[in-house]
Amino acid sequence: TFVTDSAQKTVRTTCPYCGVGCGVLARPEADGSVTIAGDPDHPANFGRLCSKGAALGETLSLRDRLLHPQIEGQEVRWDEALDFVAERFTAAIRQFGPDSVAIYGSGQLLTEDYYVANKLMKGFVGSANIDTNSRLCMASSVAGHKRAFGSDTVPGNYRDLELADLVVLVGSNLAWCHPVLHQRLMAAKAVRPDMRIVVVDPRRTVSADGADLHLPIRADGDIALFAGLLQHLATRDSGSDYAAAHTLGSQAAILAVRNWDLARVAEATGIAERDLSTFYSWFVGTENVVTVYSQGVNQSATGSDKVNAIINCHLYSGRIGRPGMGPFSVTGQPNAMGGREVGGLANMLAAHMDFTPDAIDRVGRFWGAKRMAQKPGLRAVELFDAMAAGRIKAVWIMGTNPVVSMPDADRVRDALKTCPFVVVSDMTARTDTAELAHVLLPAAPWGEKDGTVTNSERRISRQRPFLAPAGEARPDWWMITEVARRMGFAKAFPYNSPGEIFREHALLSGFENGGKRDFDISGLLAGGYETMDPTQWPVRETPTARLFAGGEFYTPDGKARLLPITPPPPITRVPGRLMLNTGRVRDHWHTMTRTGKTARLSAHFAEPFVEIHPEDARRLGIRKASLVRLARGGREAVVRALVTERQQPGNVFVPMHWTGQFASSGRVDALVAPQIDPVSGQPALKMSTVTVEPWRTA
Ligand code: SF4
Repeated sequence: TFVTDSAQKTVRTTCPYCGVGCGVLARPEADGSVTIAGDPDHPANFGRLCSKGAALGETLSLRDRLLHPQIEGQEVRWDEALDFVAERFTAAIRQFGPDSVAIYGSGQLLTEDYYVANKLMKGFVGSANIDTNSRLCMASSVAGHKRAFGSDTVPGNYRDLELADLVVLVGSNLAWCHPVLHQRLMAAKAVRPDMRIVVVDPRRTVSADGADLHLPIRADGDIALFAGLLQHLATRDSGSDYAAAHTLGSQAAILAVRNWDLARVAEATGIAERDLSTFYSWFVGTENVVTVYSQGVNQSATGSDKVNAIINCHLYSGRIGRPGMGPFSVTGQPNAMGGREVGGLANMLAAHMDFTPDAIDRVGRFWGAKRMAQKPGLRAVELFDAMAAGRIKAVWIMGTNPVVSMPDADRVRDALKTCPFVVVSDMTARTDTAELAHVLLPAAPWGEKDGTVTNSERRISRQRPFLAPAGEARPDWWMITEVARRMGFAKAFPYNSPGEIFREHALLSGFENGGKRDFDISGLLAGGYETMDPTQWPVRETPTARLFAGGEFYTPDGKARLLPITPPPPITRVPGRLMLNTGRVRDHWHTMTRTGKTARLSAHFAEPFVEIHPEDARRLGIRKASLVRLARGGREAVVRALVTERQQPGNVFVPMHWTGQFASSGRVDALVAPQIDPVSGQPALKMSTVTVEPWRTA
């Protein structure tokens, strides 16, 4: 049971799982349980919750919780642990320079945690070696937004999906990965049956079941699909007034796709010409179109180009900025967006600023920092590569499990084994990564921590605590602040509460911005932090529901950019291998540290599996529900066969959740090649080739 400091009081907070960012009402009960309900007043969900959100109360037990700081497995006092971390980081910096240390964070961190971690690294250590598992989630969307809009800004909001007459889901199993947003979409379709939904996905997912048209695209065929759409738009229309007034680059973009007629797109995508023609004519004939995209787009070696190929179509046709239209990136994690806002990515500075001389100077003066990092740091895959090469001497991993989630995950495990100093702050010591830590710091999880998160529609919401911290658990912002003070930066880290940190973050967003900055939340300073309502940024005087109706992009000339994106050659198919796609299931979250605690959620899928088409199964001698061995480069995973026509021949799908803690052979990301998008640094988690065979005991 828990000691609650707010027994019988209902607390308004935000779900800790996906990027929909649903409002949750949590009420600790006298018997130690917590009653969970959807917040009817939260504009993301209006009272709805999905299976994961509804089961949050079942995930709060202290089983497997890390409750005390540890050094080399021995419980120690907080002071001892913090002194040790500060000493080892300081020593590494002194001996090997600022780039010898790193922080690897998580979309689970709150904005306040991210802010102080970023400030410590980029302002006071003097290195931008701070990256996050959000790199695995939406870095390609960030790059695509910046290239098109001059800023990483999502133009629309969730209401646009309800107002659209055509919603295109690309690489997004919305029904399972953003369930409440999918519920909203289906509810809108129920009252407006003329609304059409198109799903572009190699698999026939549950989202495709609810669609008017499923386009079973070949892995990585997305650029060809949208090149064909742009070509189709251009042959029927010389471009919208909007494009003429507010964009540059149309001509070059169209030239790049001029040969992409239906036949060629059909060949590149594997989609029947008839279906392509239907999709293109629906898009051309519908004013209100929203294109939603997610990991199937982002997690690719050409993810950034895919994003821009989609945005090109919306810019060219002027379908952006008004109700019911626009390109819409949905983020996987609860605070992927908040991390982007404060510079939690190695290539961003703070408050959406890049590493330009002006921005470095501005942030440096605001922070009073003399040792500002001067250039971007190592992105996730590069960071662990540098560690494997012996260049990272100390790393602090916060609330994430890269030994499971990173591509080529065994190599990441080996890199951490050789790293001289590994700190992990987490709610549990039972992760594959925590097992390799020299120092473990007990982090306060959801329910105990306090701060803000930002969802996929730029809406900042409060996460509020409703339980007293268990054991000696502390919030991440507190640990980072304490270590920063011990490293000699006490003056710059005076924080006693997350509200003070948020206030500084909001002040920085409005500092010397000339009134025209994309990420400006200085308007929130007038209201109270404790009572803050969910609010969409930018907030100068008022919140902003939608951007770019009248152009006004964040490029120097105010115009958006269409990019000349030519489809890449098809992925080389290796004879005897199948294409491996990875992703989520409906009822589990990431590496299951929380959802794995509830039998109700585990009942949906109790063990790792591989979806395989009946033709492949027959050819390979794989029987329904038998064990299957997948392998690549000496790594293997053994999972259960789920033989299904939802999968295309030549392709398999394995969920990413199972870890060494739950099923020693289910770590599928060990099989994923460490290929990245060169623009965004995002790993291609959905297109490695693997051998597949029946599992036989030795
Ligand atoms: Fe939580 Fe996402 Fe489900 Fe909403 S849709 S309850 S944010 S997991």
